[in-house]
Formats: sequence, C-alpha cells, structure tokens
Amino acid sequence: MTKNLVNKQGKYGNYGGMFIPEVLVAPIKELTRAFNAIGMSKRFQEHLAEVLRHYAGRPTPLTEVKSFSQAINGPKIYLKREDLLHTGSHKINNALGQCLLAREIGKSRIIAETGAGQHGVATATACAYLGLDCVVYMGKVDIERQSPNVAKMKLLGAEVISVGSGTQILKDAINEALRDYATNFDTTHYCIGSALGPHPYPEMVRIFQSVIGNETKKQCREKFATDPDVIIACVGGGSNAIGIFSPFIAKKKVRLIGVEAGGLGDDLGQHAARFFSGKPGVLHGCCSYVLQDDAGQISETHSISAGLDYPSVGPLHASLFDQKRVLYTRVKDETAILALKLLAKTEGIIPALESAHALGYLLQQGKKFNKKDKVIVNLSGRGDKDLPQLVVRGLI
Ligand SMILES: *Cc1c(COP(=O)(O)O)cnc(C)c1O
Repeated sequence: MTKNLVNKQGKYGNYGGMFIPEVLVAPIKELTRAFNAIGMSKRFQEHLAEVLRHYAGRPTPLTEVKSFSQAINGPKIYLKREDLLHTGSHKINNALGQCLLAREIGKSRIIAETGAGQHGVATATACAYLGLDCVVYMGKVDIERQSPNVAKMKLLGAEVISVGSGTQILKDAINEALRDYATNFDTTHYCIGSALGPHPYPEMVRIFQSVIGNETKKQCREKFATDPDVIIACVGGGSNAIGIFSPFIAKKKVRLIGVEAGGLGDDLGQHAARFFSGKPGVLHGCCSYVLQDDAGQISETHSISAGLDYPSVGPLHASLFDQKRVLYTRVKDETAILALKLLAKTEGIIPALESAHALGYLLQQGKKFNKKDKVIVNLSGRGDKDLPQLVVRGLI
C-alpha cells in the first residue's frame, strides 16, 4: 500500500495546507478522519482494486510505440494506456475512489465541479454505478462549449447546475460547489478531480491515482527486469503525473518530466505554465505555484487543452519543483497538435490533447535521448473528445 507523504499540517514542505473558511473546517476534518481510517485501510483498498479491475478496466497495458519512436528518431517509448479505461481517461480512478469512500461513510449525495466536463462525466459515471445522487456545477459558458459532455452527465442521471455568476467558468463553479459542501456536508461529499484543493484532497487523489505508477513499476519489472529510465506526463492539476511518478520519487535514477501547457507563447495570459512564470500563492484552499500578476491577481491562462488550463498546480508538484526532483517544462499548442497527429498516423492511437503535450516533449527532445533509454509516457486519455474542436479550428 502507498504511504502518506504529507505532514500533520497537510503540507508537502512549504506547499499544500488547508486555507479554508470556518464553515469548511468541520467537513474537511471529517473527510480527513474518514480517509485516514477507512480510505487507507487494506480492506478498502482491496475493494477499490476490485472495482477498478472489473468495472474500470484495470490493469491498463504498457504499449511499445516503435513507429512513433522511429519517426522522431527517439529512444524506446512505451505508453501507459490510461486512454483505454472506462470513460476514456485516468479520471475514473479517482472518481471511483472518492465515491466509494463517500458511500462507506454514509454519504448519499456527491457534488463535483467541472470545466471541460471530463471530471463531471467520470463522477456521474461512478455515482450511477455506486447508486449515489450526483450534482455537477458547471459555468454557463463551459456548458455551452461542452454540450456532448453535458448530455452524457444527464444521461448518467446527474443534475447539471449552470453557474451564471462571475466569469461563468470553472473557478465560479468551484465557488458554488464549496458553498453547497459547507451547507450539506452531513449528506454530501465534494469530489475534487485533481491533486489540488485543501488537505486531504491532494494526498487522497495522489493515492487513488498511484495505481497508475504501481502498475507501471510492476510492468517494467516484468518487461525489462528493471525500472524505466524516464517517465513523462502532462501536468494540469497534476493528478495523472503524480499518479505515475509516485512510486518512483524515491528512485533517484528514474528521470521524471512534467509537461505543462505552453499555449500560444511565453507572455502571461498566453499559457498555463505555472513553473515557468508562476509564484507561490494560495488558490482554492492550498498553497502552490500560481500564475498571478504583480498585484497578486490570478492571471488569465490559455491552452488548447481544457484539462491543462488552470492557473495553479498540485502542491506536491510545487515541492518536487523546488527540490528539482522533477523537471517541469512546457509544450505549445502547435507542438501538441503535431504530436497528436503523429501518434494517430504511426500507431493508430488518438491521444487526448492533454496527453499529446507529453508526447510533444518527445517530438522536440526525443532525438537527444540515448537510443537505449526506456521512456514511459503516461497516455492520460483518448482524443475523441477533442475532435470537434480540431475540426472547427480547421486543424484536421
Ligand atoms: C483532466 C485531464 C488531464 C489533466 O489533469 P491532471 O490532474 O493534471 O491529470 C490530463 N489528461 C486528461 C486526459 C484529462 O482528462
């Protein structure tokens, strides 16, 4: 089983913590207790492993992509196929973990917030499977932009609440979800979709996503009789990356690379590369690297992939950045699109635009690797969801 990495204050070094209003203290304390007593128990983890196996489709394969590697004159490349999971990405690992835990502690109602709709769909799916009520908060603008995912959530039995306050996007939906949680926590669990938010969320999500890294480690031992040389993952809030990195953090020989959204360019507002131009700050309950202007106002961000388009990042990543344990870098929209197209053409796999950022790093740097290096790329999701956007922009 995976061990807790946070200290008693819920911090990873200087980052993380619980920056919450008084009304959230009781629910967050209850959740922390439940996660430590039940979520970390052997019985619960075995139950979750069964659900992941028989419902979500774990273990996912490790696929060697020789033609892709040849095309970029690169090293030996293997994809960890989270795209093959039910609902098409790693998000279901965490949604099932949190919803199962919530049901065990007697909650009957789950709330979530979603920007692009991916986490909303994963949560609505887990709720339908586990017999829980589901309410998803979504900004009005996002609802208009993401109608297929809204239809899916409704079909799965979730109520989708349109948030018309503020800028009508993800951050406004988060505010509404927090309000609901503070009022209704005796019946309700708030399911956060990435390794973010106040403690215990970053650690809970990390542990639920560590299944990716634990499987990868076992598969590498079987395939190569040793650990991989390099692991590359895209970093939005940071859950798929921390999931695959986790069992390798203490193994200093394994190079870990996190790829953020380089967007359109390096000016503030044009990208979502927190480790390129962010500074430590507090957003949505935790301290981490945050993209902000000189006055400390949260800045606008841009990425072609909605899943990477967020001004802050999980606090453990902030700590790993300061320690220089993980190399964080950025890949632009245009490179991610090229990588998506190349993987589709050479291997018959259409990656999510988020995952295409991790592949984009290899497009740029692959030829500099030692040809014998064994490189794992976390293919966090499949690209079907991105096709309408690529067609509209005339990119395919
Ligand atoms: C949501 C999403 C991401 C980004 O979230 P992380 O928490 O950083 O993993 C990456 N890939 C896919 C396919 C997603 O849906």
